[in-house]
Amino acid sequence: MTQPPDRLYLLYHELRPARSDYSYVVETNQFEKHVDLFLKLRNEKTSVFYPEITFDDGHISNFEFALPILHSRAIKAWFFITVGWTGQKPGYMGWAELRALQGAGQQIGAHGWSHTLLTHCDQPQLQKELLKARLTLEDKLGTSITTMSLPGGRSNQRVLAACREAGYQQVFTSVPKAEPQPAGPAVGRLNIRGDMTLEWLTKLFQPESGVLSGLQRQHQIKATAKTLLGDRLYERLWALLNRHEPTTDAGEAAAHENPAHYQ
Ligand SMILES: [Zn+2]
Repeated sequence: MTQPPDRLYLLYHELRPARSDYSYVVETNQFEKHVDLFLKLRNEKTSVFYPEITFDDGHISNFEFALPILHSRAIKAWFFITVGWTGQKPGYMGWAELRALQGAGQQIGAHGWSHTLLTHCDQPQLQKELLKARLTLEDKLGTSITTMSLPGGRSNQRVLAACREAGYQQVFTSVPKAEPQPAGPAVGRLNIRGDMTLEWLTKLFQPESGVLSGLQRQHQIKATAKTLLGDRLYERLWALLNRHEPTTDAGEAAAHENPAHYQ
């Protein structure tokens, strides 16, 4: 029996019909091209990696723009929802949209209650971010919720233990890595930014191109800096550095300045 291919989970946030300089936004027709590339890779089995699509935050564009593209190609994705924003925060999905996603066969998971970085939460806050988020989703959607993704990708041993205690069987991270099947309790993902071209994405699926290993090195350097400096100092430094280099990870800098938004 042949081994199933390793999965590469891609992480999207918001789609917009027009090009945006904000790096966490992907243009809708670009996304459509990405999905067609993923379909081709899946069908032709030309890569050692099998692409999977995930969305974080629960932006309304996931329903308006991503769902029709996925639906027309019979592709299932994961949608990780900031539960406290649902039907509350302008620009984000309400319960009707989430039920429609679910009804179309898409997979729903949690992305915390308020998008607070879980590493910054004390125990009662973790309870709300994890357990209240899961129970509310289950109650409103009438299904069991067993997956979640980490706001800002932040975690430590305490957070992972709290996720398990709150009933999540799988936690989707922002660690760029391929996942052998069946995936374990922590599932790595690759953040897709608006400036990543189709050519780049094609190379990502060719291990010999070195794109994935380059991302992994970059991630390791950032992780080391976060450990050495601590989260908050790292965020301030990153924001400061990016003011001088607006083209490098500007979205991430903006997101770190305002951790209640995006990754
Ligand atoms: Zn997020």
